[in-house]
Amino acid sequence: SKAALFDADNKVKITFADVAGLDEAKEELTEIVEFLKKPGKYTELGGKIPKGALLVGPPGTGKTLMAKAVAGEASVPFFSLSGSDFVEMFVGVGAARVRDLFKQAKEKAPCIIFIDEIDAVGRSRGKGSMPGGNDERENTLNSLLVEMDGFGSDSGIIILAATNRPDVLDSALLRAGRFDRQISVDVPDISGREAIFKVHLKPIKFASEVDPKKLAAQTPGFAGAEIANVCNEAALLAARRGKKQVEMVDFQDAIDREIGGLEKRNKLIL
Ligand code: ATP
Repeated sequence: SKAALFDADNKVKITFADVAGLDEAKEELTEIVEFLKKPGKYTELGGKIPKGALLVGPPGTGKTLMAKAVAGEASVPFFSLSGSDFVEMFVGVGAARVRDLFKQAKEKAPCIIFIDEIDAVGRSRGKGSMPGGNDERENTLNSLLVEMDGFGSDSGIIILAATNRPDVLDSALLRAGRFDRQISVDVPDISGREAIFKVHLKPIKFASEVDPKKLAAQTPGFAGAEIANVCNEAALLAARRGKKQVEMVDFQDAIDREIGGLEKRNKLIL
């Protein structure tokens, strides 16, 4: 159905407190939260509120989570779609979906539109694309550009988009008045990992020996998504082992599994 491509969750409960680390990104996005809360305050002196920002970073680092947190902090609806949804679409469908989404967003403004994997639809036009089946992607991209230009900076709509390939994006998307701000959402360092472990340990019954600092030290290169997996996997392992609390050994085994999974995935890619 049409509605299945995006959801308009009016009750985003996620806030910046759910996003560990990433302090600089939060700081930059706090401004957007302010714009959504009090648009008038910012346009009063003739300034133009930015229409969009690009969240740039590797998979699993919390880009989607961050976009939801912006909506949650500002208490505004969150509309989302993924660029990959548009890859194999019939002629006209992608462009129509984009128009439909913006129409809904205008009715619910102030709000956030989140476009995940924008590179799938926003790849540079006419370059390095597969032969055939490419026109519809271009149509979709064009309609996105048209929609972005079609609302004023006082409309209360802010578009956040996520990508791990900013280099392949069509320069038209990055032009002033479109996604002219880039916010980096990087893989966490050791203290970032510790903070992410603390967030994901909250719902878990763990033994007092479990130390987020040690867990952070044992997980170099892990992104937030992998840390979330480790915590969940450790809890399931401990339960399978008949324990009443999750112990350090369960976390270590979960970390080993996650590393095994990552290696497998990397092999598939190579
Ligand atoms: P992708 O590019 O693969 O879509 P993403 O950057 O959008 O990834 P998310 O989907 O936001 O990543 O992250 C997946 C999950 O990992 C989150 O729902 C959350 O549980 C956890 N996570 C990632 N980063 C963080 C973080 N900084 N703090 C807390 N949890 C995090």
